[in-house]
Amino acid sequence: MQFDSFDLKPEIMSGITACGYTTPTPIQEQTLAAGLAGRDILGLAQTGTGKTAAFLIPILQRLQDGPRGHVRALIVAPTRELAEQINEAALELGRATKLRTVSIYGGVGKGGQLQKVRRGAEIVIACPGRLLDYLDSKDMQINKVEMLVLDEADQMFDMGFLPAIRRIMKYLPSQRQTMFFSATMPQDIRVLANNILIDPVTVQIAHQKPAETISQALYPVAKHLKPSLLMELMQKHDTGGRTLIFTRTKHGAKGLAQKLEKAGHDAAALQGNLSQNRRREVMENFRSGKVRVLVATDIAARGIDVADISHVINFDMPETPEAYVHRIGRTGRAEKSGQAFSFASRDEQSQVRAIERLIGKEIEKRELEGFDYAVPAPKGNNNGRPQRRSGNGGRPEARSQGRPSTRSASSAGRPAAKGGGRPGGGRKRAATGANTFGLSPQRKTGNTNVNRAPRRTSSGNR
Ligand code: AMP
Repeated sequence: MQFDSFDLKPEIMSGITACGYTTPTPIQEQTLAAGLAGRDILGLAQTGTGKTAAFLIPILQRLQDGPRGHVRALIVAPTRELAEQINEAALELGRATKLRTVSIYGGVGKGGQLQKVRRGAEIVIACPGRLLDYLDSKDMQINKVEMLVLDEADQMFDMGFLPAIRRIMKYLPSQRQTMFFSATMPQDIRVLANNILIDPVTVQIAHQKPAETISQALYPVAKHLKPSLLMELMQKHDTGGRTLIFTRTKHGAKGLAQKLEKAGHDAAALQGNLSQNRRREVMENFRSGKVRVLVATDIAARGIDVADISHVINFDMPETPEAYVHRIGRTGRAEKSGQAFSFASRDEQSQVRAIERLIGKEIEKRELEGFDYAVPAPKGNNNGRPQRRSGNGGRPEARSQGRPSTRSASSAGRPAAKGGGRPGGGRKRAATGANTFGLSPQRKTGNTNVNRAPRRTSSGNR
């Protein structure tokens, strides 16, 4: 199937060509006809499937006709990064339509956003919180919206936006087309979808598997030893390119980046508490190579599209197996090989099993040669049990669903050239049992570059 089978206006076809799209992706193939015909859509699909163009093409086509100068399409998305990404896609796909767009999110001044609204933007891409501010203060009206998109609905739910969405719905006219996208369909999301969609066309795009170019390894390790294992692994492994490290909490990301900096790495944290300007600065530094190690939470890492990430390290295991696939999909892109290392403590075994079920294979278990896994936890450390922290109480920044990239997944070509840290001259370490937690290593790999690190005397969690 080709795009020209959809009877698209020349302005839209030229946008599709400018974006370099030649054939529709499966979600586009299955939803475009219905979307263009004005039907409601329920799409179970993740980022990377081409869902953005699947809803933007019908919007641009419809808005090309009819009045201009007021909001006619509203796209609600969970994060500012996603809102920006959608805005960029709308500008590129819709260049020839001369339709105006504005992205709306918190953490930045209101002036610029409101100016674009007042000047008559027809397409609004908004995060729920700031949008509600404008609706409540009557700075913005959405009562003439013809098309509504809720993107990554499950993510919005995880971030606690459901009440905001319900309130936004009250400002919208009931006569409209609604397109609803979600990677997963938990009960609350299903109820929301049932409430707001009328006779939708439902499409489900299967989960993706990690690209073959990504070599994966699992390091079973006690929780209190994770920081020192990380330091030693990074010292021994040539993490030559960029390294992206995932932690469960914002607090954890910040603390770990500080530790890495102290150890001499060019590291920075990317987490939800940063101002928009600071985030932009951190991302630019990571892209330019000034920052080589980025520590992030799942939420903050949304929208990071940086080529040449050589290593992804799961310092904490992700909450869902889909998030694992999404995280490690940041490396091994475009046929390049990448390494994904995961640190799993005793209480993360169930996540490991869920991941292995999803990817359909066991992840190779490894031990780092020369690392002292026997160092006991410092007194008072409730190793292995959930820790309470101040701030957000040590909760994850928000539960995350995986968003594997179609392109990285479909680039599944050659396996990585090297298995990454193959057994070389390194002396094999006997299994102690202390660090494996029943996740018995299939192959213990040493490191050829055996620079035995000084024996650790205490945990790095201080
Ligand atoms: P999305 O799932 O919307 O975030 O899209 C993932 C990526 O696929 C983006 O970089 C899009 O530009 C790209 N993309 C979307 N549709 C197509 C298509 N038909 N052909 C090639 N690439 C596409």
